[in-house]
Amino acid sequence: MQPRSAEERRAELVELYREAQACARCPLFETRTKVVFGSGNADADLMFVGEAPGMHEDQQGLPFVGRAGQLLTKLLEEIGLSREDVFIANVLQSRPPGNRDPQPDEIDACKPFLHRKIELIEPKVVCTLGNFSTKLLTRSQRGITGVHGRPQVHELGGRLLRVYPLFHPAAALRSTKTLEDLRADFERLPALLEEPPPVPVGAVAPVTVAATARPAEPAPPTLFD
Ligand code: URA
Repeated sequence: MQPRSAEERRAELVELYREAQACARCPLFETRTKVVFGSGNADADLMFVGEAPGMHEDQQGLPFVGRAGQLLTKLLEEIGLSREDVFIANVLQSRPPGNRDPQPDEIDACKPFLHRKIELIEPKVVCTLGNFSTKLLTRSQRGITGVHGRPQVHELGGRLLRVYPLFHPAAALRSTKTLEDLRADFERLPALLEEPPPVPVGAVAPVTVAATARPAEPAPPTLFD
């Protein structure tokens, strides 16, 4: 793939945003108020992917603007980052009625948008928030409790990058232990962003994980596909 400048990638992201506004690929278009495309730095090194818009996000057309979003903003500030430094998106761009779980057909319909965002933003690290984004982007059924805080290398948007699974902030609002775990995982993010880019298996150097990360587990079978 030809390297593209940040301006070119940003312009294509704006095109994608326009396309998303009219999206009717799943029935959620009939019940949503606004499409929640995502927001932040179009050239961010760090991207977050949550589950789906809730009531506040649906009304404002912006991701993570409710209580879970306030916690996300606070955790970012604690590691010296702001929301303007990162890009925040979701698995779904439209709110499921009553905040029910995303359905497989909805996830499938929205997936090309998420992959294209990752392709255009070219992040170094994608933090998945909770089970839905973690399972989708690690292409594994392993749940968040078993995989949080351990970076995995995956090919996404045409590049190798690190996926860093984290508990969903909404879960951390319900449990002090989960909040402690989420905060501890956040504290490893600055070091992870400093890691050299992952290299493909068989290339010069082995794929590494952050020195400060939770102890490594055997590589999941879905590491490269
Ligand atoms: N929860 C999510 O997963 N995404 C949002 O945008 C808000 C709450």
